[in-house]
Amino acid sequence: MINIVLFGKPGAGKGTQAEFLKTKYNLTHISTGDVFRYNLKNDTELGKQARAYMDRGDLVPDELTIKMLQDEVEKHPDTAGFLFDGFPRTIAQAQALDAFLKSKGWQVTATIALEADDEVLVQRLLERGKTSGRADDQDETLIRNRYQEYNEKTAPLMDYYRAQDKFYAVNGIGSIAEITERLSLVIDKLN
Ligand code: AMP
Repeated sequence: MINIVLFGKPGAGKGTQAEFLKTKYNLTHISTGDVFRYNLKNDTELGKQARAYMDRGDLVPDELTIKMLQDEVEKHPDTAGFLFDGFPRTIAQAQALDAFLKSKGWQVTATIALEADDEVLVQRLLERGKTSGRADDQDETLIRNRYQEYNEKTAPLMDYYRAQDKFYAVNGIGSIAEITERLSLVIDKLN
């Protein structure tokens, strides 16, 4: 069982890299952003509860997010491991993830941050917004609010995982293949 958490600000390339890594390492990819967007699109109860937060570029409350993540994990009891993309994003979520995995005899193996300069990322997201159709990628104010959420609530997680000796960072600027290679170097050393 190997459980990897991918960190990085919106636009850092988590989703793109997860697509490669999940195949390479046979991991179950859970993107909380994707699950929320699916629920929004299908107008589920969860979607209704999450919508206002997502429209503002705010984090969805922990309680809702943690419950949703646990439900997703429960769908894959026989997996070789998970690739968490966009979760955890707060200390409360990280603590809940630790406790939840522990209850199953599992644990977070490592967390890897994709690092990139804010200004590069804002431009990337605005570019992505032209084709993704995501409202939160099309408005610079919303994008900057998502970064503020990241800096306030998610950045402290780096110390949380550093204290457990589970934090790694890679340079997120370069070609997709180069970055997959950098991430693979970290993952290959884990076992
Ligand atoms: P993402 O696709 O990861 O950028 O997520 C899009 C939006 O979904 C975020 O701006 C949040 O509103 C919500 N979201 C995704 N993951 C989480 C999380 N772990 N905690 C709270 N909100 C989240």
